[in-house]
Amino acid sequence: MLPLYNSIFFRPPLQKRLTIKAWIQHCPSCGYCNTVIDGQTSDMAQVYIRKNFMTSPQYQQQLKSSEYPALANYFLCYSLILENEEKFQEAYKQSQYAAWVCDDDKGQNYETGAKNCRLRTAELIDKVKQQQKQQHEPANHEEEDINLIHIDVLRRAEQFEQALNLIKQELNKNSSTNVLKFQQHLCETKDKKCYTMNDVKKSS
Ligand SMILES: [Zn+2]
Repeated sequence: MLPLYNSIFFRPPLQKRLTIKAWIQHCPSCGYCNTVIDGQTSDMAQVYIRKNFMTSPQYQQQLKSSEYPALANYFLCYSLILENEEKFQEAYKQSQYAAWVCDDDKGQNYETGAKNCRLRTAELIDKVKQQQKQQHEPANHEEEDINLIHIDVLRRAEQFEQALNLIKQELNKNSSTNVLKFQQHLCETKDKKCYTMNDVKKSS
């Protein structure tokens, strides 16, 4: 079954999401974003790579983008740093957190921002899978989970065809059949809304 979050498809319940601010730090003077900024590292090569990357237009534009709430920009900036270092597994999660921040922002409508975050998340998950294939990592439960996340992110970003293709592949080998069938129905009816595991249970 779903090991990550019981009540919602991989998005933690509101109470947990309220702590999301504490999941990322941002340095106001240089714009560096990371889970923890403590200024202590022995990895000078990484410091060099990151400082260099932070001067790129891509990073600087993301840092100040008006298409996302500031907190989402910080997650996306850290996600860009990780992607640049081919740490796709961590990079996609940061992008997913940014989507949740967009969903939950009450000040403004960030629907397009949320969609873009999810498209980015889906691309990064593709890269995780490619990386795993290259490294010949054996299939395991983690892979089943990442495929479920991939399907949900694609559906919520309105990439229904892509999600349906993935569902078809997964129905043969993934053990979470009830979740897959539920997702299949949502994709066929072009439903991009957020659902909970309770909805899955009710439907089966
Ligand atoms: Zn700084």
